[in-house]
Amino acid sequence: MTATRFLLLGPPGAGKGTQAALLIEKMAVPQISTGDMLREAVAAGTEIGQIAKTCMDRGELVSDEIVIGVARERLAKDDASKGFILDGFPRTVAQAAALDEMLSELGQKLELCVAIAVEEEPLVQRLLKRAEIEGRADDNEETIRNRMRVYRDQTEPLLDYYRGKGILAEVEGSGTVEDVAERIGKVLE
Ligand code: ADP
Repeated sequence: MTATRFLLLGPPGAGKGTQAALLIEKMAVPQISTGDMLREAVAAGTEIGQIAKTCMDRGELVSDEIVIGVARERLAKDDASKGFILDGFPRTVAQAAALDEMLSELGQKLELCVAIAVEEEPLVQRLLKRAEIEGRADDNEETIRNRMRVYRDQTEPLLDYYRGKGILAEVEGSGTVEDVAERIGKVLE
């Protein structure tokens, strides 16, 4: 059976968003990206957006409280009742614990954490290139280095969290988009 409730974990630039977009073409479940939702809130000028913007521009994490609220609201929507692909959430152990709790309230359970492994230096180069193309406010070198540090300190502990639960699947993130998609397809089966 193919997993329909899972998350993509990995450092900034590892290709979570790209892989999630490919996966939703084949699966009838939504992609839930806290990064995209926060950028929408910033663009819409909501109160949450205004608070989030300062953190995002510095490459720091938005507070657990805000992100958990955003994720909770999104997961409760109808289209997520049959499954979801989480992209960029959770990013801290507190968020992971909150996710378990909100899913259990919804009578659901996370099936898999797919961790995309890529070395840091090629990622920084990849993100610098993306900065030139897309001009995202948080894609400058200083912020990128900071996001890597934040990932190592706050998000990497999630590998142990999910390993401990027996639902961690590690996937090599080097190679082409298609190579990585194929590896992810295998662990979801
Ligand atoms: P990346 O592609 O670099 O992983 P995202 O688009 O997922 O970036 O997120 C961009 C920014 O949005 C993060 O640097 C952070 O400030 C904020 N953000 C997104 N998701 C979360 C989260 N789960 N917890 C805290 N902050 C988040």
